[in-house]
Amino acid sequence: MIHKPARRIEAIEPSIFATMSRLAIEHAAVNLGQGFPDFDGPSWIVEAFAGALRSEKNQYAPMHGTARLRKAVAAYQQKFYGLEWNAETEITVTAGATEALFSSMLALLDEGDEVILFEPFYDSYYANALIAGATPVCVTLHAPSFRIDEAALNAAITGRTRMIVFNNPHNPTGRVFSQDEMNVVAACARRHNLLVLSDEVYEFLTFDGKHHTSFASLPGMRTRTVSISSTGKTFGMTGWKIGFAMATGNLTNAIRTVHQFATFAVNTPAQHAMAHGLEKLHDYLPDFRILYQQKRDMLLRGLEDSILKPITPEGTYFMMVQLPSDVGDDVQCATRLVTERQVAVIPPSVFYRRSTEGQRMLRLCFAKKEETLLAGIARLQFH
Ligand code: PMP
Ligand code: GLN
Repeated sequence: MIHKPARRIEAIEPSIFATMSRLAIEHAAVNLGQGFPDFDGPSWIVEAFAGALRSEKNQYAPMHGTARLRKAVAAYQQKFYGLEWNAETEITVTAGATEALFSSMLALLDEGDEVILFEPFYDSYYANALIAGATPVCVTLHAPSFRIDEAALNAAITGRTRMIVFNNPHNPTGRVFSQDEMNVVAACARRHNLLVLSDEVYEFLTFDGKHHTSFASLPGMRTRTVSISSTGKTFGMTGWKIGFAMATGNLTNAIRTVHQFATFAVNTPAQHAMAHGLEKLHDYLPDFRILYQQKRDMLLRGLEDSILKPITPEGTYFMMVQLPSDVGDDVQCATRLVTERQVAVIPPSVFYRRSTEGQRMLRLCFAKKEETLLAGIARLQFH
């Protein structure tokens, strides 16, 4: 007899990132799909990890994270955003932002609650809402501006709405939402007494002199926002999976209740190394920003004569490109690109539930070495 999986996971598809990376390996393709750098983060952080390994930092960390890392998180949040998080009672270290999102949604959503997702959405929000027994309700950010539509947001709110998931800078569109757009989300949360899950993993990846505003720093948002970030993007070490959730004490207690039985504690030497990274953040960031701005600009320039029309990202390491009408939809196009032209990209229609706009775009990742970007650009010059 075949044992069926639980009903609450029936609608959850395999991750598109894993699927496209598998196809990239199978077809020896240049991988501009899944978001990760194809180069290492700084060697001084690797040394810090090695140092932690050698100095017996190898047993369980405290359940909510090492004191050093929580203090480093509190310090950078204060310095960059003026936010005061209590390192003991309001910061929880998790296995990447992925676990922070999972534990927060499991901790704060009841069956039947509705969760607002702006689509295109990062795929784990949708799956997490379903696993929590909640109902995701999508509000479309229409291409090519991907602006937050106040009327559409308000129309999506019902008596059952409990949470808005807000991701800024935004994957996959590359938007850095304006102060006005953030105020629209904040006003909606205040009016309907909603929680906000604010995913800020790309907080330091902003371009053209733009700077990130943390959602919790908006008026009235500190006590209703769970701020989530991780060090994977900032230090170019996505495999280390060090993330954190910051929230007022009662929300943090709930998140820790799930966290303690999801992972309990997170990789100890990696926490020490990432604490070291965050302590040096101020000196590290200028070169980091220049590096990624150069990569974005290289991809933009490389696509100037392509039939793919890029939508300039203001942040993240992703770029949406629009497809001409005669090349099939995004899935057909992404499949052809990986099998026939050996370049992997992400078909974004999987990030939508209401709109079909995703079928007319592809997502490219530019967190890649110059030679990878050049090879990818050459393979994207198709007709
Ligand atoms: N949120 C967004 C918007 C992401 O793009 C990612 C992808 N890495 C994550 C969360 C997950 O972050 P982590 O790797 O720290 O789990
Ligand atoms: N965040 C990465 C992306 O958007 C993927 C992370 C993952 O594979 N889960 O491509």
